[in-house]
This record gives sequence, C-alpha cells and structure tokens, in this order.
Amino acid sequence: MKSHTRVAVIGGGVVGCSVLYHLTKAGWTDVVLIERDQLTSGSTWHAAGGFHTLNGDPNVAKLQGYTIGLYDELEKITGQSCGLHRSGGLLLADTPERMEWLKMAHGRARYLGLETELLTPSEAKQMLPLIEEKYFVGAMLDAADGNLDPYGTTHAYAKAARIAGAEVYVQTRVTGLARRPNGTWDVATTQGTINAEHVVNAGGLWAREVGRMVGIELPVLAMEHMYLVTDEMPEVVAYNKERGHELPHAIDFKAEIYMRQEHSGLVLGTYEKACVPWQPRTTPWEFGAELLPPDLDRIAPSLEIGYRHFPAMERAGIKRVINGPFTFSPDGNPLVGPVQGVPNFWCACAVMAGFSQGGGVGLALSQWMVNGDPGFDVWGMDVARYGGWATRSYTNEKVRENYSKRFSIRFPNEELPAARPQQTTALYDVLRARGAVMGDSWGLETPLWYAPPGVEPVDIVSFHRSNDFEHVRAECLGVRNAVGVTEIANFAKYEFTGPGAEAFLAKLMTNRMPKAGRLVLTPMLNPAGKLIGDFTIARAAADRFLMWGSSQAQVYHMRWFEQHLPSDGSVRIHRYDMGLVGLSIAGPRSRQLLERLTDEDVSATGLRFMDFRQMDIANVPAMINRVTYSGDLGYEIWVAPEFQRRLYQGICDAGRDLGLVHFGMRALLSLRLEKNFPTWYRELRPIYGPFEAGLDRFVDLGKPDFIGREAALREKQTGGTLRRVSFMVEALDADVLGDEPIWHAGKVIGWVTSGGYGHYVGLSLAQGYVPVALATDVGAGAFEIEILGDRRKATILVEPPFDPEGQRMRM
Ligand SMILES: Cc1cc2nc3c(=O)[nH]c(=O)nc-3n(C[C@H](O)[C@H](O)[C@H](O)COP(=O)(O)OP(=O)(O)OC[C@H]3O[C@@H](n4cnc5c(N)ncnc54)[C@H](O)[C@@H]3O)c2cc1C
Repeated sequence: MKSHTRVAVIGGGVVGCSVLYHLTKAGWTDVVLIERDQLTSGSTWHAAGGFHTLNGDPNVAKLQGYTIGLYDELEKITGQSCGLHRSGGLLLADTPERMEWLKMAHGRARYLGLETELLTPSEAKQMLPLIEEKYFVGAMLDAADGNLDPYGTTHAYAKAARIAGAEVYVQTRVTGLARRPNGTWDVATTQGTINAEHVVNAGGLWAREVGRMVGIELPVLAMEHMYLVTDEMPEVVAYNKERGHELPHAIDFKAEIYMRQEHSGLVLGTYEKACVPWQPRTTPWEFGAELLPPDLDRIAPSLEIGYRHFPAMERAGIKRVINGPFTFSPDGNPLVGPVQGVPNFWCACAVMAGFSQGGGVGLALSQWMVNGDPGFDVWGMDVARYGGWATRSYTNEKVRENYSKRFSIRFPNEELPAARPQQTTALYDVLRARGAVMGDSWGLETPLWYAPPGVEPVDIVSFHRSNDFEHVRAECLGVRNAVGVTEIANFAKYEFTGPGAEAFLAKLMTNRMPKAGRLVLTPMLNPAGKLIGDFTIARAAADRFLMWGSSQAQVYHMRWFEQHLPSDGSVRIHRYDMGLVGLSIAGPRSRQLLERLTDEDVSATGLRFMDFRQMDIANVPAMINRVTYSGDLGYEIWVAPEFQRRLYQGICDAGRDLGLVHFGMRALLSLRLEKNFPTWYRELRPIYGPFEAGLDRFVDLGKPDFIGREAALREKQTGGTLRRVSFMVEALDADVLGDEPIWHAGKVIGWVTSGGYGHYVGLSLAQGYVPVALATDVGAGAFEIEILGDRRKATILVEPPFDPEGQRMRM
C-alpha cells in the first residue's frame, strides 16, 4: 500500500468504483480505493441490476440518464462486459390518478431528452402479453430501461480506473480516520496507514460507521429487500421465440412490483408496505456476502395482486428468493458532496439505485473535488440538504415511509406524515387550534393554510385545484385588502460579526453591503457565475450583519461560508436556527397595526421601505425588516423564541378591528407569484446566472471584486442564453406545479420552475426559463404549457400582474 494519496475512496461497491473511475477521468490519477472484503461484497453483489431514468427530481433523472449512457463507454475502455440488456420498460397505471402522474412524468421526460411514450392498455398488452389488460388504464414506455450484471459492471468501473492509474486494495478495512493539522487524513487500515488529502465515504451498508469515524451521524439506513427468480416459463420462451427479443421490464404500481426477464423466467421484486429496516443502529463489520432469510408472508399481499395482474406468474415455480439489504436516505435520493464542518471529507452514500445513479454520483462528486463545483444541479442529492434534526430515529421513520411509498403516487399537495412533528415553534398548538394545516419545512412544522371554523383542516390530495383553493384565496384577499399575519420561523437566519465581516460578505455577495439600519437583497454566485444563494442582509452596526435566506439551504450555505472564512478570526458566523423566530404582517393596514404595538416612529418616513430597526414591539425586544415576500406594504418581525407568543398575541389583539387574517405559506407563494418574485431552489438554482434570472439590480458590477464577478460580467455582456419569464396560463382546474414543459411553435423550449394561482389578480401563473430570443415573444398565447398531458395556452407577462410599479411596498 502507498503511504500517501490524493484521494482514498472507502468502499468497493458500484458507487465507490464509479467515484474512483470518474476521479481518474477528471484528471486525478493518484487515487486509491480501499475495500474491506472483495469488490461488490456490500449490497452490490446481490442487486437485481435494473436501471431506469425516472426520478421525481428532474436533475437526478438527468444524472440517471448519464449513468445509463455510460456503460457502453466502460465496456469499450475495459473489454469487461457489463452484461447489458436494454429491453425498455413499461410503467403500468391502474387508476386515472396514476395515469395523470405518468402524463406528468412523460411531460418532464420530454425536456430531459428522454424517450417515453404513453400507451393504451391494449398497446401495453401488445408489448407485454403477460399482463391482464382489464386491470390497467394505460401505461408509459421508457425506452431507456434495462438491466445489467452488477458484478461485471462494478469490475468494469474498477478496471477503467486502474487503467488510468488508480490503485485498488481489497481485503483491507479502514478502521479509523484522523485529521492532521494540515487538513489531510491519516486513514488507518488493517494493512497499515495511508495519508490522503481527501477521503470519500462510499461505504454503502457501512456508510454510517464510516461517518462515525469523523464524528458525524449520516441520515442513512439499510432496508431488507426481496426479489424472486422464477423457473423457466413457457410464456417467456414463446415470447422470445416469436419476437426475437426479451420481454420489456414492467412496474406494476398497484401491486408494488417490478419485474423483468431473467434467462427464460422472470425476476420479480417488491417494495412492500410491511417493510423492515436492517441493522437500525450498527452494521456489523463481519457481515459478509450473505443473504437474509426470506419472508414471503411479508410480500404476500403484493404477490396476490401481482398474480392477478400477471396470471402466468402464479403458475411459475420459484427458483430462488433473494433477500438483501441496501441503503436509503430519508427521501430516497443519495447523499453526495462535502460534509459541512469536516473539510476534505466527502460522501457518496445512500445510493439506493446504484445502477441508475452510480455513474452520475461519480461524475458529480469527481467534478466537485477536482473543480470545486459538481458541474450540475445536484441539490436533490446534496448531503447538505439535511440538518441536525434528521436523527437516527427520524431517519428510520422516514426511510420506512419512503420505502413503503416507493410505488405510490406522490401528490403535489401531499405532506408525508412520518416523523412529524419533529420541530415546532411556541405557536404550533395555537395555530393548529386556529385551523392551521401544517407542512414540513426543513423539519419544521409550518402553517400552509387555515381552515375556517367548520372546515376540516386536511388537504385532499390531488393534481388539480383542491379543497384549500377557496381558503387560500380568502387569505390572499385578506392580505391585499387589509392585513394578514403569517409565521416565518422557517427562514435561515445568520449573524456575521467582527472587523472582517463587511469585507467577507462583500466578497461573497453580488450587491453592495447596506448602510447601518438598511437592508439589501443580494444573490450569491459560484466562480462560474451561477446562482448559489439569495439573501436579505441588514446592517445592525458597523461590524454586525444579520442575514436571512432559504432554510432548506442553510447547511449548504454554511459549508460555503466556512470554506471562504478568513483564517485570522476576523469574522464570526452564527447560525440562529430556531434561536430566532418570526412573524410577518403584510397588507395596506399593516402599518396601522404596527403603530399600535410600538411607540417608535414607524411612519412612512420613520421606517422606510428596506429599513432595518431594533425596537420593542408588543412589549418584546425585536428586530424589524420593512420588507415582505408578499410584495405588499409589510414587515418581518424577528424575536427570540421565548417572546414569540407574546408578539403573536399582541398582533392578534391589535389587528382584530383591522380585519386581520392569518395566512399560510401557500398564500404567501401565491402573493409572490403576482409580483414575479423568484424563489430559491425553483427559479434560483446553480444552473442559472443572475442576469438570466432577472436579478440585474442586485448585481453591482461596479464592485471591484466578488466571487463570480468575471463570469457575471461575461453574462451581462453576452446576455446569457436563458431568461426567466412569468406567464399567464389559460389553465382549467389544474395550475402548474413546476417542471412542466414549455412549448413554443410546436417544440419544447424550456420548463416551468414554479407556478400556481394568483388569487388577487385572478390569474393562473407560471415562471420558467426560455431562450433569450423567445423572451420577447409577448404575443397572446405564443407559448403553451403542458399540464397533465394537456397543452394550455400561455402568454408572457411583461410586468408583474400586481402593482407593477412597486408602490404598495413603498407606501
Ligand atoms: C435485493 C436487492 C436488489 C437490488 N436491485 C437493484 C436494482 O435492480 N437496480 C439498482 O440500481 N440497484 C439495486 N439494488 C441496490 C444496489 O445494490 C445499491 O444501490 C448499490 O449496491 C449501492 O452500492 P454502494 O457502492 O453504495 O454500496 P455497497 O455495495 O454496500 O458497497 C460498499 C462497500 O464498502 C465497503 N466498506 C464499507 N466500509 C468499509 C471500510 N471501513 N473499509 C473498507 N471497505 C469498506 C464494503 O465492504 C462494501 O463493499 C438492489 C439491492 C438489493 C439488496
């Protein structure tokens, strides 16, 4: 074993081998992989080897597409067969709702360049005669589906890496990780110690244990998973003979079964409701290439339905039952990237579909390590998307929920119940008693909408406008016509202090820092000039800044801040988390309400638009920002958690005769759509530049230096390639949700980033990016947006439909 290496990849499953290969491909060849046993001996060896492109997150779907395209390249480089069977696959819908879901997936696939086709039941039967047609209402064909040999594929990755100079050490277990003062790692193994500049945790079934070596508890858990292999089936033999090719794969959502041909029989796997975690606390190091005892009773309900839907299967003998463990994160997507607070320690774990995702994970991680940026929008699988609230038992509950719903429809307005409530504010019970329907926002219960007395506070899940519609409308009208209060605890809040704070923020942010008592809005860019953040910053004193941003991205942002923090101690960062909570009041009567709560001057001149103050409000010490996301006259009031109830009570008492309404996140999102305001993670993502996003006035190119300035300047000069636009959509009873294709002159030219109904302006609204040249096509109905398979006319809005001059915010 070498004594030093640039990267030590821990784990020789399909993911570790892919990372190793991609590192060499990105130009780092002094890299090693350390494997406890033999390559594949974790969860990889007993995988069913299926692959597909479909994923709820289109950015992850794109990386799945990359993975599937990679296998031919690997075979060519190495001469090692991956055992590819590109058979295509059918997704079978048993209900109209499921078919709507497939139509949505089909629409998304279009702009990802994936080949899918919607089929009638008889067309599906034509392709897969094993199905009993009467149980299905339709299907979608995904041409990219197939399966491979897990062993051959993993070895092909490893061989390709070795050809490029990487080394692989098998029968070598990593037993500990110690960081040297220079930031490198001493990787202790059963065969000696190797010093590595970077360590990658690709430990699969042992990813938690490898994480614990550096003091972190990763939200990852293994689940038992079963599939059956049947004896030879005459129906399969006849099909192969007649058609000259294999059966397509199939997913039967109702039965929660996936199925494919294996030799002249079938493989049939289930994601059963009665699922079982494996080794919930600690994975034993001695677990070898073993299988777990099968438990057919657990999957019997799925098999029963499957046998009805595929009658030939019931007649087939079962040759083998495989039960093996593999890992999941709480939302089922991988955990990839650098770990905040642990420099030079990287994750490539919780990859539940190694043969669909392993290539993309390897590509993204290697680029991240070599270039400082993954080169894609990998938010959906960034390890930073979880916070400290994602404990081991939280993970256990969420992973079980996710596993058991893998083949269930996920509705856009569906809030999943497991492990909730996890975090609550002091107002949780009070707001629930008022009829609040709660949603999960980064582990925090947040009001979505309020059911009036006599209305049950539950969402009826649907792809269409649902039971909340009229109530959200009432909330929006209440704000626009009088005043509303909403809880805004679910923001990220930071404090930057110290003599270097201003220079530090100025270097990271595109906008100038505010004067004392003022606010600025500012994007944050990566060196490639793409959007990686969007914040409100207040200057509380010469060397004290408060900052608000997206709660979901707070670990992601902290990681970035820490990477750029000067080493001289001149800047201190404090993440408030739930140590600072807030309420926002908005609407034309909000000033009147505020005046009743303070003796300070909060008149139009005393507290101007974009002012920041510290003052007592409703008896409690508070910080106040004169800005709100509603685009109306309004204020954000921030207090320590112990004061939140007092503040809330004060607002309710003072607002009673002003027509105060309570409004939730759904109303707030509707109000911001009426102002064409973008939102982080939908419109503002690392695939867009600030000018493309229309954030021109928040980018001060006159500033001598900030990260991404050069690239931003180029974008400004060239105009970029895309433009964020807002549309008015001729929708029927379903509004856009996000990710729908945008059509122009018969071609898909972009996709919707977010949308919904603008209740005050009475319009169905959408935002999205289109090529620059098309952004000026403002003709009525010049575009179409595909909603649930139906192309609806859409027209670019040249200005926000509500208060285009911004007078209300400034009144
Ligand atoms: C029954 C079953 C069917 C499946 N079917 C499919 C399918 O059809 N399609 C699909 O895409 N996926 C499937 N999977 C999932 C797939 O197996 C996983 O996504 C994949 O194996 C994950 O690979 P990995 O490299 O992350 O983890 P692993 O394969 O677990 O690899 C981790 C490796 O790290 C090593 N290691 C851990 N700790 C250390 C240490 N301290 N020192 C040295 N080495 C260490 C382990 O020995 C192991 O070899 C299936 C899984 C099961 C169980």
